[in-house]
Amino acid sequence: MLNLAGTENQVYFGTNLYSDKYISKGLIKISDTFFDETEINKIALVAPTATLIEIEDYEITKKQKVQLPQTVEKIVKCFNPKCVTNKEDIPTLFKVIEDHKGTMKLSCHYCEKTMTKENIEFL
Ligand SMILES: [Zn+2]
Repeated sequence: MLNLAGTENQVYFGTNLYSDKYISKGLIKISDTFFDETEINKIALVAPTATLIEIEDYEITKKQKVQLPQTVEKIVKCFNPKCVTNKEDIPTLFKVIEDHKGTMKLSCHYCEKTMTKENIEFL
């Protein structure tokens, strides 16, 4: 999703790490990389509790929680095969909504189908 497979930067992955707040946490550390808004939105969609930290010369220079965007344009494919965005060259557009349980869902602007995180496929 972040195209790290082709990167030549140093990448460090951690999983099942100790967390004060959650049962456990994961960590991805990438050298010399700054994510743009699209990439940050992708992270927010799959990991809404993620925190982004920038480190320069061993010091934390920026720490921010990701925020779910109100709309998602182009970056996600509609899971409805009959949706016009899967038949014609139309960029996808979704409204980000939360159901009564607080579960994040994406509502397609064109076919009005809603999908959950499990159905998300990035373009
Ligand atoms: Zn659709």
